[in-house]
Amino acid sequence: MDQGKKAQLKAKERLLARVKARKDIGLLYQQLILGDRNALATAITLCESTATDDQIFSRELIQNILPHTGKAKRIGITGVPGVGKSTFIEQFGLNLIAAKHKVAVLAIDPSSQRTKGSILGDKTRMEMLSNHEQAFIRPSPANDALGGVAARTREAMLLCEAAGYDVILIETVGVGQSEIAVRSMVDYFLLLMLAGAGDELQGIKRGIMEMADGIAITKVDGENTLASKRAKAEYKNALHLFPPAKNQWSPQVFLTSAYENIGLDEVKNNIDLYFKQLSENGYLQTQRKEQNIGWFDNLLREGMLQAFLSQEGKLQELKLLREAVASGNIDPQSAAKKLLSL
Ligand code: GDP
Repeated sequence: MDQGKKAQLKAKERLLARVKARKDIGLLYQQLILGDRNALATAITLCESTATDDQIFSRELIQNILPHTGKAKRIGITGVPGVGKSTFIEQFGLNLIAAKHKVAVLAIDPSSQRTKGSILGDKTRMEMLSNHEQAFIRPSPANDALGGVAARTREAMLLCEAAGYDVILIETVGVGQSEIAVRSMVDYFLLLMLAGAGDELQGIKRGIMEMADGIAITKVDGENTLASKRAKAEYKNALHLFPPAKNQWSPQVFLTSAYENIGLDEVKNNIDLYFKQLSENGYLQTQRKEQNIGWFDNLLREGMLQAFLSQEGKLQELKLLREAVASGNIDPQSAAKKLLSL
């Protein structure tokens, strides 16, 4: 770790210690809304903490910052590992910064719960963007026993907005569950796809395609170009088969190369058009309301689970029952009933 990063980490730790010692959310709030990156990182860490004290602080902090949130464009970006997400996001983020935006990148990685790593753990990812003054990059919490990763990401998003970031990119790996969580917290959902060998429209992708507001075919350079053009026609046809969206939006397909910075401006223009069109027809507001309801529902689910599992002995019982289900000593239904004392 270089000296600068070490010093930054120290400053963050000192700030967190001071905030905790003085139970002073006011201090953190002040620095956060001035756009201080250390304060932002500290605030996100506080929200990720499961300590009861920290949770009380973080709830208060979120309450305080709410009036400063809601103005950013919230964009979800998804695609299978290797499709080119981080390369795309880095170039896209740099383009946005060149257009005078402040960009925050948050990542949800469901597999991180198993590996205790993170898709952004590798420091070489998005190096240029992560070193940029106008960018802030944050991986998802490494693990969360109660499955609240999505809730933490939502809070991180709000904190970034309060710190003045006006574009929030939320990255997720295209494996199902996390897309649905991300879809419910963003305005525009971008799906990255490769021009593959005829398997484009199969399996899980169809469901994810239906959620997309735009599809970008990646790595359209070199020998991929021809296959990509064919894939574009296929995807366009497939999109026509879906029923029209409530918000009147028709998703487009883009040919992009992050290496050559091709097609990324078209994606950006499409996102701008989306915001213009949906502000005019009122759907942006409707979607934001739905996002809030989703937030509420999630908090409720998480809270109920937490309250339930904090009962004496429940966590231990859960652990034992999981093992028993795995080894076939009890069936899942009976195990769930037992835990719930039904
Ligand atoms: P992720 O796993 O979805 O985040 O994918 P990465 O961004 O790590 O990219 C996966 C691989 O594809 C890497 O080897 C990249 O160098 C390569 N790649 C990414 N973008 C492009 C592109 O625009 N053109 C080409 N030819 N390769 C790319």
